[in-house]
Amino acid sequence: MIRLEGLEKVYPAARGQAAHLALKGIDLTIGRGEIFGIIGRSGAGKSTLIRTINRLEKVTGGRVLVDGVDIAGLSNAELTAFRRRVGMVFQHFNLLSSRTVFGNVALPLELAKTPKAEIAARVAPMLELVGLSDKRDRYPAELSGGQKQRVGIARALVAEPMVLLCDEVTSALDPETTQQILDLLRDINRRLDLTMVVITHEMSVVRDLCDKVAVIDDGGIVEQGNVFDVFVRPEHPTTQALIAGEIEAALPKSLHRIIHGAPQKDGENPVVKVVFTGPNAYEPIISQLSRVAGIDFNILAGQVDYIQNRPFGILFVEAKGGLAEAERAIAFIQSRNLSAEIIGYVDPDTVPAG
Ligand code: ADP
Ligand code: MG
Repeated sequence: MIRLEGLEKVYPAARGQAAHLALKGIDLTIGRGEIFGIIGRSGAGKSTLIRTINRLEKVTGGRVLVDGVDIAGLSNAELTAFRRRVGMVFQHFNLLSSRTVFGNVALPLELAKTPKAEIAARVAPMLELVGLSDKRDRYPAELSGGQKQRVGIARALVAEPMVLLCDEVTSALDPETTQQILDLLRDINRRLDLTMVVITHEMSVVRDLCDKVAVIDDGGIVEQGNVFDVFVRPEHPTTQALIAGEIEAALPKSLHRIIHGAPQKDGENPVVKVVFTGPNAYEPIISQLSRVAGIDFNILAGQVDYIQNRPFGILFVEAKGGLAEAERAIAFIQSRNLSAEIIGYVDPDTVPAG
């Protein structure tokens, strides 16, 4: 559906600022019906990249092909028609405050000179789809953030786009509303088989929404693949750092405080982080570890997430023995193609009971 070939973008020098190479030879292929995530830190080039797909940003090198068409060659009239078929949703919603919910969603159709009766007939099912039928005559100021974003989504869909571009669409929302918007986007993707490009700096958005992911760092793609594979075996340091943030979140704050980077006195036990993928949760792993290493393991914390319906677990265990036993356990885990590492040391007397 979308092919980016050797994309380069140079922002020219201006007002004392040097020229800036924002995209450095990006190659990406996004399949029809896919939800494709592009993740990176602030300033990595995400917004620049997504804006090249509807030519809001002109590239200075390479090609953008959408549905087989090189969009650099479109005339002005063709570009207008093309942009109608590429919906975009924004972080800050970009609604018109003087228009009602209905008026905002109707706007793209009005601009395309669609007859009034047809507009009414097309807006209603969009409001239904995003769950806002009862808010049709409200103004943006009367809506919550999540409701505003639903209006933004309905407005992007009303012209029946072939692609939906989402730039940080949940970054201004609280976690619960974020989850609802991600569920809505997934649902829309399934129902309409709509190709989506999702830009985010949050790994959890990729985990909960996307099929595929590419990691952008300093204007270049450093890693890409299926979301599950990238989560379970991140290869590039940037990806590892982004995922580490997610995994950190799995370790309760009370444990953070008692785990030291290096042993602070004799008798501290290694803490091992085990990342595993498989339907059988902790018990089999722990009992196998005890057998192999000849010591007991105490579960400190753990959680199982589901990514693309496959379980992905993280377990923090205290090895009730020395470094040699902990390392034997780690070697065993790695031999099973799972990942394990020592993340610190804990004084057994400070570990909460239970
Ligand atoms: P992201 O969305 O990942 O935070 P952007 O694509 O917005 O990153 O920006 C990438 C880089 O390009 C940044 O260094 C930014 O300062 C620069 N940049 C973005 N827009 C412009 C512009 N219009 N003119 C000059 N530099 C820009
Ligand atoms: Mg951005």
